[in-house]
Amino acid sequence: MKLLVATGNRGKLKEINRLLADAAIEIVGLDQLDNPPEVIEDGDTFVANASKKALEMAQFSGMLTLADDSGLVVAALDGAPGVNSARYAGEHGDDAANNGKLLKEMASVEDEKRQAAFHCVMALAWPDGRCETYDGQVSGLIMRGARGEGGFGYDPLFIVPEYGKTMAELPLEIKNRISHRGTALRKVIPLLQELAKG
Ligand code: IMP
Repeated sequence: MKLLVATGNRGKLKEINRLLADAAIEIVGLDQLDNPPEVIEDGDTFVANASKKALEMAQFSGMLTLADDSGLVVAALDGAPGVNSARYAGEHGDDAANNGKLLKEMASVEDEKRQAAFHCVMALAWPDGRCETYDGQVSGLIMRGARGEGGFGYDPLFIVPEYGKTMAELPLEIKNRISHRGTALRKVIPLLQELAKG
């Protein structure tokens, strides 16, 4: 069975590919499509944006499509950067600038008030307009400086208390086991396996 994974984010794609490695599914990336449309992520929620991405790409490609909308929710910043995580500092996907802005906004926040969570919504859409969503979250704390080389996005600033390490210091297997994306995707996998059986 073919599944279009509708993300241009390499970090996400690597994690999703690994999580689906054991399922009998042929993953198609956006780079294998001719001129895919650019989906404007203008929803107020992760559910709205994930559904919009999955539905538009399913209709365009005619394929079963999985899309992820995710981001970092910081309590001391009233939930920011939230659905704007990818473009927090202005330019879409500029991880270094986003991390710099987050550190600056959090500079005066005390250690006890640095709680945050990564949220992920996975949307599975069919070309006929059906769409289902699945969510996952992981809680942690925002550091005062970056640590670690792995992962992507805000991972070097996000410490997972159970491990005493940032997401960027954890091997991919462990990140996938505990992460927002891993949790959301494990909820979709049984259905994908059913669909793959035909
Ligand atoms: P999206 O493409 O609109 O879903 O934006 C996702 C953004 O949220 C990314 O660009 C990152 O800034 C952030 N993000 C989502 N998941 C992760 C993660 O697993 N680690 C670090 N940052 C993440």
